[in-house]
Amino acid sequence: MTPYDFDLLVIGGGRGGVRAARMAAQRGARVALAEALGTEGLGGTCVNLGCIPKKLYSYAAHYAEAFRESAGYGWEGEAPRLNWDTLKANRAREIARLNGVYANLLRGAGVTQLNGFATLQDAHRVGIAMLNADGSAGHESYSARHILIATGGQPHVPHFQGREHVISSDQVFDLDPFPRRLLVVGGGYIACEFASIFNGLGSRVTQLYRGEQILRGFDDEVRHFTAAELRKSGIDLRLNAGVLAIARQADGLHVTLEDGNPLVVDAVLYATGRVPKVEGLGLDAVGVAQDAQGAIVVDANYQTNVPSIYALGDVTARVQLTPVALGEAMQLVDHLFGPAPGQAARAMDYGLIPTAVFTHPNIATVGLTEAQARERHGQVRVFRSEFRALRHTLSGSSERTLMKLVVDAASDRVVGLHMVGAEAGEIVQGFAVALKAGATKAVFDATLGIHPTAAEEFVTMREPVAPPTPD
Ligand SMILES: Cc1cc2nc3c(=O)[nH]c(=O)nc-3n(C[C@H](O)[C@H](O)[C@H](O)COP(=O)(O)OP(=O)(O)OC[C@H]3O[C@@H](n4cnc5c(N)ncnc54)[C@H](O)[C@@H]3O)c2cc1C
Repeated sequence: MTPYDFDLLVIGGGRGGVRAARMAAQRGARVALAEALGTEGLGGTCVNLGCIPKKLYSYAAHYAEAFRESAGYGWEGEAPRLNWDTLKANRAREIARLNGVYANLLRGAGVTQLNGFATLQDAHRVGIAMLNADGSAGHESYSARHILIATGGQPHVPHFQGREHVISSDQVFDLDPFPRRLLVVGGGYIACEFASIFNGLGSRVTQLYRGEQILRGFDDEVRHFTAAELRKSGIDLRLNAGVLAIARQADGLHVTLEDGNPLVVDAVLYATGRVPKVEGLGLDAVGVAQDAQGAIVVDANYQTNVPSIYALGDVTARVQLTPVALGEAMQLVDHLFGPAPGQAARAMDYGLIPTAVFTHPNIATVGLTEAQARERHGQVRVFRSEFRALRHTLSGSSERTLMKLVVDAASDRVVGLHMVGAEAGEIVQGFAVALKAGATKAVFDATLGIHPTAAEEFVTMREPVAPPTPD
């Protein structure tokens, strides 16, 4: 008999925490999961304030384009108008349903759910400030052989005059009223997605980014192409630009920009990065090491410097994506409790992580950017196709699609694949399998296209573009 209340106590009911708790319980471990927001927080950022509500709003915004473009296909009559309150209420209902699904999954697996904020008390003990159903507060304390911290991240908004007037992505889904004029500050994927979403929903969107180009880390051509498409779609994207101060006045938020220009908007969304959510966790008291940004430092098996304490997902600030948190959780469970019967232990592979950005048009990518490939492989061949999608021959939209393959010249392997265009995420997910399998350009060439699709371009690009000449 173990001297602990639980074999595993998970702190945080996001995608990483829920997956780890559920799988560990299925292996026969005695598991508890603490979630600060109770059942309503289950699913974490992804379900409540990230991937899912964002994608629902992105779908909503796409309808506006579809209504507009349908005229070219012969549809007549006035386009419907957005009822923002209906969209918000329907989103909230769907998220509540998902929270319930996660609660049932945990219950079904036999995980003890602890509704409350968790704090480490020592290397094997966690205190929970309970959220009781009747609204009263209470405190409980549990011991565990292993403790897993999966508390995720939270938005970071810098300090400046008028900071109290801005919102982050945590508040954007329930904005009231709908912002007719919206300023988005930031150039990462979350900023770009919300700029696209609110532009599509009908806001007049200004987006400011301090740097030379949005979407740092993506292929340079993809970044420039996307910036041009966002501008074409109506977003007033300003680079090398920032906010000095914000003041509330009767007609809206008066924003003083670094270039001295004034701007009046209804809401300001700061999407300027995320930081690990670690306040109040008691990391210092127990001696859990963090890096300079506050992320919990872990080894290849997600173990911290305190051997009984593990951490994964956004709180470790490695690759902040839901499928990564899920993959890490599955590796950890196999490591701690052994793999499922008849299966090998899983290992999270950080190579070739496909990812999408749900701007309009979408971006999706897997593998190396052209610059990374040149650095790593030296000689690369680049194949590129830019075109107007068939749909837009009648729609009247000037939106264009970009597709790009980066091939290691020595091995002929496709090491990078990038797309900006409709349904890029859906398309690139399939090609990610090909890259993972080590497909060469010759294999791409030998694959027949599905006609007529945009995706077929990936298997019909024959001539490489000339390599850039060194300066
Ligand atoms: C706007 C936005 C859009 C995104 N879009 C995508 C996307 O399209 N695709 C994608 O793959 N990823 C996306 N992400 C990233 C994705 O949401 C995260 O990578 C993922 O949620 C990380 O999961 P996690 O389990 O590490 O943490 P989280 O999902 O953040 O969960 C952490 C949980 O821990 C709880 N918690 C925190 N502290 C405590 C405590 N002390 N005690 C108890 N509970 C606590 C929190 O309440 C939360 O429920 C998006 C993120 C944002 C913000």
